[in-house]
Amino acid sequence: MIVQNYDAIIIGSGAGGSATAYSLVNAGKRVLMLEKGGHLPRDGSTLDVQCVFKHGTFKNKETWQDNQQHSFVPDEFYNVGGKTKWYGAALLRFSPHEFEPDAAFQCLGWPISYADLAPYYDQAEALLAVKHFANEPYLQCLINRIVKNDPSWQPQPLPLGLKHEILQHPREAKHFDGFASRGNYKADAQENLLVPLLNSDRFTLHIHKEAVGLLAAEQSPQRIIGVRCADGSNYHAPHIILAAGAMSSPRLLQDHLVQSGLNRTWPSAPLIGANLKLHLNSALLAFSPFVNRDILRKTAIIYNQAFPHSTIQCLGWLDGEILATQLPAHAPRFVANAMGRRAYGFFITTEDGSSTDNRVVSRTQSGQRPMLDYSMERIPASVAEHQSLLKAFKRSLLRSGLLGASKPMGLAGTAHALGSMVTGEDTETSVVNANGSVHGFHGLYVADGSILPRSSRVNPALTIYAWGLRLGAHLANISSEAA
Ligand SMILES: Cc1cc2nc3c(=O)[nH]c(=O)nc-3n(C[C@H](O)[C@H](O)[C@H](O)COP(=O)(O)OP(=O)(O)OC[C@H]3O[C@@H](n4cnc5c(N)ncnc54)[C@H](O)[C@@H]3O)c2cc1C
Repeated sequence: MIVQNYDAIIIGSGAGGSATAYSLVNAGKRVLMLEKGGHLPRDGSTLDVQCVFKHGTFKNKETWQDNQQHSFVPDEFYNVGGKTKWYGAALLRFSPHEFEPDAAFQCLGWPISYADLAPYYDQAEALLAVKHFANEPYLQCLINRIVKNDPSWQPQPLPLGLKHEILQHPREAKHFDGFASRGNYKADAQENLLVPLLNSDRFTLHIHKEAVGLLAAEQSPQRIIGVRCADGSNYHAPHIILAAGAMSSPRLLQDHLVQSGLNRTWPSAPLIGANLKLHLNSALLAFSPFVNRDILRKTAIIYNQAFPHSTIQCLGWLDGEILATQLPAHAPRFVANAMGRRAYGFFITTEDGSSTDNRVVSRTQSGQRPMLDYSMERIPASVAEHQSLLKAFKRSLLRSGLLGASKPMGLAGTAHALGSMVTGEDTETSVVNANGSVHGFHGLYVADGSILPRSSRVNPALTIYAWGLRLGAHLANISSEAA
């Protein structure tokens, strides 16, 4: 007889998993969260440029292969709070039209509308205390020049999950984008969603618990009843929620399909891991003859109707120390310092369309490393818009007195990995229904960024939080019987 001490088990403590836990526990449900990583240290090392950027101390160390069999380590973070501990806390909503399909850009549509998600966006923004910050003087001056030269650039305040007090702590204010806060100045999944649950006897968090398999009812591989962990332990509950992130959750399901033979019969099987999106992201550094003395910097986002699938965000603090981690080792430090003092950073993002060939592949069964098969050749419209945008923005910067140089984030840049188990109505074109339940399965749900049919032109975390809150509210309302 299987003992069920929990109403739900959530695999992963990132944005989607924590939001689902928050909803479920507050609705009176008993939740077990299994997290592969541990707690980040509070000794200041998560703000240290050498540890974070140069040595990659906190990044995962698992090697993947690309479709040319080249090995690389993707930018995945296995710790309590997932990637939200490291994110730049730009917390934006997708626009209503980004829930619709856009065939010319290879964008799938959502099975729900913006209005369906809007109450959960409201809730997520309140829980994360999303706010705007005024542009600092050097950035404002630069934006004024850019817009004066070309009014098609439309700057807007960037919604941020930062506390205003961060401005009193320059080390934190200079190191929030890509770093983890020591003093809790950044709103993230751990601090804002999990910490409030820790006093509840309905919530249990097990750290250093890697889920390695799904447990199914006897003779019924589509009825999921539990989770198997790397240390040999098993846990059971009527609802099992995949929230290990878009690079990991599909691999757990792929392994289950192969072990059970469902990979040969289940209609959605070819779509597990497919339609992966990463965003087309480039970092653009612009150098001015004048020293930039702003600190927070990442307070604006720029739209342009000529590039409707793209945005430009300011990056956080840059200095010689950070730049030196990107320059060749023999570059003298005084050059890096001089460049750093005059640099403005921008993050150029274009929505990548969906291709079923862009995919995550587990390969556990053949004893090989996982594969990230992603090629920009499969999404030509996205590439064309990204390149035109880069050209146009560099031109505008030059007219404003700054010389810009850009670098695409390579395949290892999986910070925005999304969409590897998309939600939709049709079992032949999607994996998860509009309520987060895996098509044709009983008791299996997806809470993380895997479900996003579109990556949109802005960062995804707020949408993942909102989806998780909605999934939790839905599960709290249905009985175990109906699930
Ligand atoms: C440097 C950086 C900057 C970013 N900036 C922004 C930004 O400004 N705005 C924005 O919106 N987004 C940003 N993002 C992206 C954003 O953080 C992610 O899209 C979002 O956090 C993904 O949430 P998730 O729940 O899908 O997955 P994750 O946050 O990746 O969470 C998955 C969790 O599952 C755990 N896990 C994995 N495998 C297993 C397993 N087998 N068993 C148990 N646990 C497992 C992981 O350890 C992790 O805790 C950024 C990301 C990075 C890395």
